[in-house]
Amino acid sequence: MPNPTILILPGDGIGPEVMAEVRKVIDWFGTRGHAFDVTEDLVGGCAYDAHGTPLTDETMAKAQEVDAVLLGAVGGPQYDNLDFSVKPERGLLRLRKEMDLFANLRPAQCFDALADFSSLKKDVVAGLDIMIVRELTSGVYFGEPRGIIKEGNERVGINTQRYTESEIARVARSAFELARKRNNKLCSMEKANVMESGVLWRDVVNEVHAAEYSDVELSHMYADAGAMQLTRWPKQFDVIVTDNLFGDLLSDLAAMLTGSLGMLPSASLGAPMANGRPKALYEPVHGSAPDIAGTGKANPIACILSFAMALRYSFDMGDEATRLEQAVEAVLADGLRTADLMGPEGGTPISTADMGDAIIAKLAATA
Ligand code: NAD
Repeated sequence: MPNPTILILPGDGIGPEVMAEVRKVIDWFGTRGHAFDVTEDLVGGCAYDAHGTPLTDETMAKAQEVDAVLLGAVGGPQYDNLDFSVKPERGLLRLRKEMDLFANLRPAQCFDALADFSSLKKDVVAGLDIMIVRELTSGVYFGEPRGIIKEGNERVGINTQRYTESEIARVARSAFELARKRNNKLCSMEKANVMESGVLWRDVVNEVHAAEYSDVELSHMYADAGAMQLTRWPKQFDVIVTDNLFGDLLSDLAAMLTGSLGMLPSASLGAPMANGRPKALYEPVHGSAPDIAGTGKANPIACILSFAMALRYSFDMGDEATRLEQAVEAVLADGLRTADLMGPEGGTPISTADMGDAIIAKLAATA
């Protein structure tokens, strides 16, 4: 079997700093019999500086060929006045669009050592581990007609919520597959009480369930009730699947249950490739954090946990993913913190590189 292939796109700002720590983790797995073929390239502002475009056709072609893409972050104030068509974010949007990454996975996982960081009570979030699957390539952000038109004397803003059966079915399948790899429970959220697209969403999810996934426990909830339940008792959920708009809101809400931006990984998955692996892009939720870039203050954990998701969802290495997550948990339990994780009690933060090294040391200790 050839080694799995990874394209690393560190990007701008703290992207290269946090990705350097992921490289250490990848190299460590390489020394333990799990070698990856890694190539690195440019995306975002640094690609614009080098090539006049935030993503070259060559880099795009490489992204289509590899088993997984790992991305750091893009953007920075020096690019704010660029034309919209060459802004750093366009590189990221092009990757998502051309790889047709229709399922966005955002876990909300609360490490016990950080339970005090949540705005909710500790017992509500301690040990929380849920996953939101958001449909990413359709729905009201893309539906036609759209625009601002004139009707008589006033302007009218129009957006269209539109979903085809196949768009719903494919993201539902991704969510059912995930549930099977976790606690086998899926909750689908829409607004079938007031939206026809929600009625169809619920019907199609039920059909996919009956035909292919009847072993998974399925429930349905209106998305507004889902938001309330997520803040009331989030541990009732395992996997949640929802559309693009509701997923945008609910995944941000769920992510913040756990506290810090520096801790949040994500994955965006598309259709299976010829080798059975899904098209996949893994990236931390945070941006390029220009305010701390170059200072060694960035927390690399979100990016490292994104690689753990790659191990689990692209490379079928669930045990290794769990081991990496446990190494992160152990480091936090030891009280080691980057600056963003310092509580009111204070203490001395460690640097980005020291956090990476501490995680490697924990991995090695469990070898
Ligand atoms: P940001 O996520 O970069 O930063 C928000 C705040 O969180 C900052 O104070 C930052 O220092 C802190 N922070 C973020 N990640 C951290 C980490 N790993 N460790 C410690 N602290 C961390 O969001 P922003 O400031 O709104 O945007 C900065 C730039 O990033 C902009 O150009 C924006 O367009 C871009 N951006 C990119 C992405 C992406 O690449 N996916 C996402 C969001 C924003």
